[in-house]
Amino acid sequence: MTNTRNQAAQARPLLEVKDLHVAFPVGRRETLKAVDGISFEVRQGETFGVIGESGSGKTTLGRALVSLLEPTSGSILYDGIDVSSLSKKELRRQRRDYQIIFQDPNAALNPRMTILDSVMEPLEISGTGNRSSNEAEALRVLSRVGLPPDIANRFPHQLSGGQKQRVNIARALVVRPRMIVCDEVVAALDVSIRGDVLNLFAELQREFGLTYVFITHDLSVVSHISDRIGVAYLGRFMEMGPAEAVTERPLHPYTEALLSAEPVPLPSFMRSDRRITLQGEIPSPISPPSGCRFRTRCRYAQPRCAEEVPQWRELNAGHWVACHFARPDGPPTVQGTLNDQTEVESTTAI
Ligand code: SF4
Repeated sequence: MTNTRNQAAQARPLLEVKDLHVAFPVGRRETLKAVDGISFEVRQGETFGVIGESGSGKTTLGRALVSLLEPTSGSILYDGIDVSSLSKKELRRQRRDYQIIFQDPNAALNPRMTILDSVMEPLEISGTGNRSSNEAEALRVLSRVGLPPDIANRFPHQLSGGQKQRVNIARALVVRPRMIVCDEVVAALDVSIRGDVLNLFAELQREFGLTYVFITHDLSVVSHISDRIGVAYLGRFMEMGPAEAVTERPLHPYTEALLSAEPVPLPSFMRSDRRITLQGEIPSPISPPSGCRFRTRCRYAQPRCAEEVPQWRELNAGHWVACHFARPDGPPTVQGTLNDQTEVESTTAI
């Protein structure tokens, strides 16, 4: 992926997300801030990974990126054009360029439609071609994602999970998008076929010059496929940078804990000899902690962390972090005094 990474580094941003907020009312008085001030860019041909626990806001972010959710504030620009400035007609046309694939392979498939009709559907909705040309294109794309021709006349319940996810990839690909948001796309698949599907994404990227935003809770997946990674926690990024830097030399205590907790599939250089067990659940996005929102689970937390929101700082070229005490060569070094909840256990690195 090195060539792809170099080319992506030089390309201009296809996607620009500026101080994005997505909030939902809860009851009469409360607001759930699912995305609470996220900014990043994705260059043409790049794979940008978003990692985070359940409740970090990453799925809401993905839906907002493809206009399935309306931002509360902030902006999303594609090719320099603010999505909110588009008319409904322009937005419909533009949506072809930006597709999303979900975790559940069944989610986008109508159980009463044949696979061929399901793959042709996006072309029909966008008013492209005629029945015969759309059928030919759908068959071509089904073949490209590695499915045999006889699958076209089957129904979703006759397919395996891996085959259904390939159909979903075909549905996204058939309209020739420029960017695909992949939301936990291999999480529901058997471990034995995850690698094949990830390799397919990489091949399609090279062949069609695709740009990906890859959303996952799985560090081994995101490190395998991404050029850069954003680490989400409670609706904000805690750290963002080149994939190698974030996974080899994490700066934020949250990333450090995620990496240390990752089981065997990570390469040895990404594993820590100390396993850091994060205590407790991620706090509610309805009332996030004051100051640094990671402070209730951070083993380095100091009184300042409860009072002051950490600045977003670029400590190394392109490597950003939101932590008062992070250093250019790693997370803080001094054990915190604010809470004593995080357990560190020595392990033997394999
Ligand atoms: Fe947040 Fe403080 Fe921990 Fe840094 S040290 S992550 S600012 S709680």
